[in-house]
Amino acid sequence: MTNAIDRNAVHHMKWWGWGVDGVGFHHEDKPGFAPFVKFAVGLDLGTAVRTGEPSFDDLNVPLSNATEEFTAELASIVGAENVTTDDMARVVHTYGKSIRDLIRVRSNTILRSPDVVIYPADEAEVQQIVDAAVAANAVIIPFGGGSNIAGSLEPIPGEARTIVSLDLGRLRAVIDIDTDSGLARIQAGSQGPDLEEQLNKQGWTIGHFPDSFTHSTVGGWVATRSSGMQSDKYGDIANIARGMRVVRPGGVLVLRPLPSTSSGPSVREMILGSEGKLGVITEVTVQVHRIPEKRDVYAYFFPNWKSGIAAMQAISESDATPSITRISDSRETSFSLATSKNRKGVSKFMAESALPGIMKAKGWNLDDICLSFIGFEGSVSHAKHQKSLVDDIVKKHGGMGVGSGPGILYDQKKFDTPYLRDFLLDMGAAGDVSETAAPWSKLVGVHEAVYAAARGAYEQLGNDGWIMSHMSHSYHSGACLYFTFAFTFGDDPIAEYNLVKNAIQQAFVDNHATISHHHGVGLEHSPWLTQDISEEGVKIMTGLFESADPAQNFNPGKIL
Ligand code: FAD
Repeated sequence: MTNAIDRNAVHHMKWWGWGVDGVGFHHEDKPGFAPFVKFAVGLDLGTAVRTGEPSFDDLNVPLSNATEEFTAELASIVGAENVTTDDMARVVHTYGKSIRDLIRVRSNTILRSPDVVIYPADEAEVQQIVDAAVAANAVIIPFGGGSNIAGSLEPIPGEARTIVSLDLGRLRAVIDIDTDSGLARIQAGSQGPDLEEQLNKQGWTIGHFPDSFTHSTVGGWVATRSSGMQSDKYGDIANIARGMRVVRPGGVLVLRPLPSTSSGPSVREMILGSEGKLGVITEVTVQVHRIPEKRDVYAYFFPNWKSGIAAMQAISESDATPSITRISDSRETSFSLATSKNRKGVSKFMAESALPGIMKAKGWNLDDICLSFIGFEGSVSHAKHQKSLVDDIVKKHGGMGVGSGPGILYDQKKFDTPYLRDFLLDMGAAGDVSETAAPWSKLVGVHEAVYAAARGAYEQLGNDGWIMSHMSHSYHSGACLYFTFAFTFGDDPIAEYNLVKNAIQQAFVDNHATISHHHGVGLEHSPWLTQDISEEGVKIMTGLFESADPAQNFNPGKIL
């Protein structure tokens, strides 16, 4: 299918940070933020000098090694206007958006970038590009939104072959909806807002809303095994993606959308999380749902982390089926309260006097309280019934509901938080995340072990770093734990970051947790893969990649 989207309509994020130009984090309307940052990482926002946007002219961009013949061959496929060796385009396609990526691009550290960036219009063009690139023994790195944070995109330094960044940005149509089955065929380069807007117009939703929704693509979600905040109801992308078309050298792998199948081992599962190593995903058929009549997010407080986790587990075991179950630990709760906007009148009185008063009267220690968000979706009567089931469980575990007001704020600011990392980097502090999943029986232990590991790493650095966490994405047997860590850095931010990040990752695998719940493997998590899936698991995966891509043309060096 050919579509008419022009390359100029493909918008990329800032080359040096998150999101779009002109939008950034500011804290003038959040009076608790500056004191919190001083307390958490020792950074005084009043005196810290803020670096501005880095200058692209100062960047040393590696020269493109694409020959004129090869570039002309690519141009004959997509048209000269859809292939470029321009420096800005190559830098935009070099990294994802992890803190390592942001630090490297800001500090002029680009050891290898793609040599040529190409924007096909349809699957037929993708096939011709793949065949031409493989015939020329070039490297192909598929590019979705560039939002990954596991080092899944970056070219390997020292790669002598020509590297083609294959940007799917022009393939972003919802092709059709099988309304009988609730299945929508979506082109792989569709970013969250593109596809949701097209689905919404016809009364449907995908129900997949990662925090990076505004800048990531359905192909990228599949290639990294993404998970969205409403996964408790809609599932992870591994559940949502039913069918796929994947361009491989010489032909298209077609996986029809099936509700289930016993033809195993599952090729669909092999493509999920393949990070561009098994071919280029051009189309995904996803489960879609009628837009729910009612959608509410309610806030609850618990006296402490253990009681909150126990409540989340009890909800997952009960007849209640909320769309979101999320609880912040006490440190993340204090962060959330500190980043609240200036309150006035009744709202100020409730948040700052009445509510703490009620908690104290219950004998709660305000330093231990944990804030939880629980979402309900469906018909009005279904949402109401679900809420009453959850309210009972919360009560049994000593928690209390505080209404939907904070939930509305959470919903509104969820896509703005990523801008905070750039703001902190401007001031000399690094903030990033590490996330995992573990069985319910191990969850509290993993949390404690990760805190101990991070504290140990900060001690080694002689640094007052910060760590906080929340639990989200509940399953029958366990849940995801998501850690955010931040520290002011010294002379070698990458080495300092690696020390903290590595300590946290090691604590995951040492404590029955996985290396990542929804960010994939890339280069960042690859060192722990053997501990995650065992040596035999790695052997099977090595065999898969060797047979599917013998000359390592597809995104070499990632995962294994
Ligand atoms: P890219 O970053 O462009 O690519 C990622 C990998 O997929 C690369 O290996 C690439 O080669 C491959 N790839 C991309 N498209 C294709 C294709 N069509 N065919 C084959 N391979 C392809 N993730 C979550 O799951 N949930 C979250 O809530 C979440 N929040 C985030 C918040 C922030 C601030 C940031 C920076 C990231 C977050 N992420 C989250 C991580 C990231 O958004 C996901 O990994 C996302 O799925 C990547 O999609 P993308 O389109 O940006 O892919």
